[in-house]
Amino acid sequence: MNIEKDFVMKNEDIIYFDNAATTFKPISVINKEMEYLTKYTANSHRGDYNISFKVDDEIDESRYLVSKYINSKSKDEIIFTSNTTDSMNLVINGFFGEYLREDDEVILTKSEHASNILPWLVLSKKIGFKIKYAPLDKEGKLSLESIKKTITRNTKAISIAHVTNVIGDIRDIKTITKYAHKKGILVLIDGAQSVPHIKTDVQDLDIDFLAFSAHKMCGPTGLGILYGKYELLKYMKPFKYGGGMNEIYNENTIELDDIPYRFEAGTPNVSAIIAFSETIKYLNKIGIENIERTEKYLKHYLIKELKTIPYIKIYNENSEGSIVLINIDGIESGDLGLYLNTKNICVRSGKHCVKMLEEEAEFKDTVRISLYFYNSYEEIDKLILALKDFDNIKKYVNL
Ligand code: PMP
Repeated sequence: MNIEKDFVMKNEDIIYFDNAATTFKPISVINKEMEYLTKYTANSHRGDYNISFKVDDEIDESRYLVSKYINSKSKDEIIFTSNTTDSMNLVINGFFGEYLREDDEVILTKSEHASNILPWLVLSKKIGFKIKYAPLDKEGKLSLESIKKTITRNTKAISIAHVTNVIGDIRDIKTITKYAHKKGILVLIDGAQSVPHIKTDVQDLDIDFLAFSAHKMCGPTGLGILYGKYELLKYMKPFKYGGGMNEIYNENTIELDDIPYRFEAGTPNVSAIIAFSETIKYLNKIGIENIERTEKYLKHYLIKELKTIPYIKIYNENSEGSIVLINIDGIESGDLGLYLNTKNICVRSGKHCVKMLEEEAEFKDTVRISLYFYNSYEEIDKLILALKDFDNIKKYVNL
């Protein structure tokens, strides 16, 4: 393992701390995508020739590796979509759109990403069910107690992130699913920020549905995953109809293909799916425990160094994930982000697609520094140096 060699983007003259948005891809993943594009480009499920058989085999292999990675019972529980957003829309409409009735209730939090709120808002307008937001504590965290207090006899679903993308807190999903299942409540987990960073065993956590994106875990863009328990997927309706998802059809009937293919209408993102197998192999080689540990050390160091700068405000010091939120009083977060850009340091500023959080949190816009295992202490040192240069910051923002 050689981070500089594996990640060619690390050779560019930039310091990348926007890993919650997307991540770099190792060269093995890039090469695999290139191999498909240059040596066996073909569509899946359709050809009667060798390179198409190879494509089908490799997609199958990728599905198997993803299944093993999250420890699902079967690879048929893995559906390829285009991103977390697509996975969320599929399960919210395809499953919960059929399952929920007018009197039902769904629990979310105001800390959820737009893709775990907007599909629910639109569906609730159609069906009439109620959305309730489990209150967060002073640090923006979610407790089991808060969920317990929000649950009523009518609660049918809880839909929350395992790790949130602003505060970066890690929810105790195992305890939540255990409690929810006792009450007959289904749990949908937004895993966009968890699967890349922490161990995610869907059987151990007893998750009913899990959505995540390949591009946030060293995989190709344009590929998402929806995991669902097989017995639940049997009741899910496709969200898209077309080729590759039906057995036969005529004017009166449509016979669907097997699970998971019935949920994968149209030509899939073949090159991304095939290359994603290399991502899983790469992450397995490093080991998720090493990823977790490395990020923990980096974050600890980052916070320690940030604390040496008196004018930096840190908002989420006690969150468990690898995200740190900061601001400088009197300076717009967007301006601070643009100042860091002048030093080739990439961060994200604003609301980070979580626009209801400000109703509960003490902050509105922030600068988000999000780490991944390939970041280094030297990169953190350069960020700290840039932040310590207050004269330059003031000059840049015209203070
Ligand atoms: N949920 C969370 C928690 C996220 O952080 C993101 C990406 N910022 C998404 C969902 C959406 O992911 P994608 O854009 O890949 O669909």
